Amino acid sequence: KLDGRGTYRFFEPEMDARMQARRRLELDMRQALARREFQLHYQPQLQLDEDRLIGCEALIRWKHPERGMISPLDFIPLAEEIGLIVPIGEWVVRQACRDAMTWPAGMSVAVNVSPAQFKSDRLVETIISALASSGLAARRLEVEITEGVLLEESEKTLQTLHRLRELGVRVSMDDFGTGYSSLSYLRSFPFDKIKIDRSFVKDLTGKPDGDAIIRAIAGLGKSLGMTTVAEGVETPEQMQRIRDEGCTDVQGYLISRPIPADDVLAFLKTYGSPT
Ligand code: C2E
Ligand code: MG
Ligand code: MG
Ligand code: MG
Repeated sequence: KLDGRGTYRFFEPEMDARMQARRRLELDMRQALARREFQLHYQPQLQLDEDRLIGCEALIRWKHPERGMISPLDFIPLAEEIGLIVPIGEWVVRQACRDAMTWPAGMSVAVNVSPAQFKSDRLVETIISALASSGLAARRLEVEITEGVLLEESEKTLQTLHRLRELGVRVSMDDFGTGYSSLSYLRSFPFDKIKIDRSFVKDLTGKPDGDAIIRAIAGLGKSLGMTTVAEGVETPEQMQRIRDEGCTDVQGYLISRPIPADDVLAFLKTYGSPT
């Protein structure tokens, strides 16, 4: 009997520490918006055909006063869980639209929308309002969703996707190929863009199987009239293969790492931007 309890006691302090760290992060996150601790970084996307930059993906960063930059991977899941993703996501959409207005008109901006945010009733209204107050054309805004959004393929989810589409906003399927039924989701909604998950691009190091998957997805996109973006392209070799296999766009460290909003225009100038 005592042994059993002893086992529990052994794990308890560790659990406690984790719960406390989580609680701390949660409290800090509740203040972060008002304290303007969030920032957007932007990662450019290159269209291969015309060899030109066509847009940027907005990627959130949290500049914590004590802990420095915190990756979205370390706070977005918690924000989802406690509902804070709704106001944070709203800030992202508004800020991204404002930032994109300072870019050449050929440049679009993509924002990531997570499941809890997508399910909140406010998403469409938020987007309408962000477009109106920034003056950004709807065509220049892109919403990236992952399979998590489509897991429960409800009527409401599809309705929201169609409402976005009717506004003229483009919709991308992010991290394609990592979930359980990527293919079936392509059937349920006509996405504008498929973003091929970085894990497949990593496999492009000469292994024929890796190439076959990218080729298949690129072909699928082509038949369905969807753009195919390869994520996480880091080397010229990967870029060449991506090109050969028929992907239309690339995004990755080879083009640029995500950069602070203030540096985007300078980057576009040196890279040679569309007008
Ligand atoms: P994601 O939407 O798939 O974004 C791409 C991630 O891959 C980014 O990580 C980006 O920095 C990274 N990446 C891009 N190119 C390369 C490359 O060549 N090599 C490698 N190793 N990595 C590359 P990041 O910025 O840490 O974001 C991680 C995830 O957090 C995003 O994945 C997205 O799911 C989520 N996220 C980021 N910003 C937001 C946001 O504003 N709202 C929501 N809901 N989620 C966000
Ligand atoms: Mg994304
Ligand atoms: Mg992705
Ligand atoms: Mg991802």
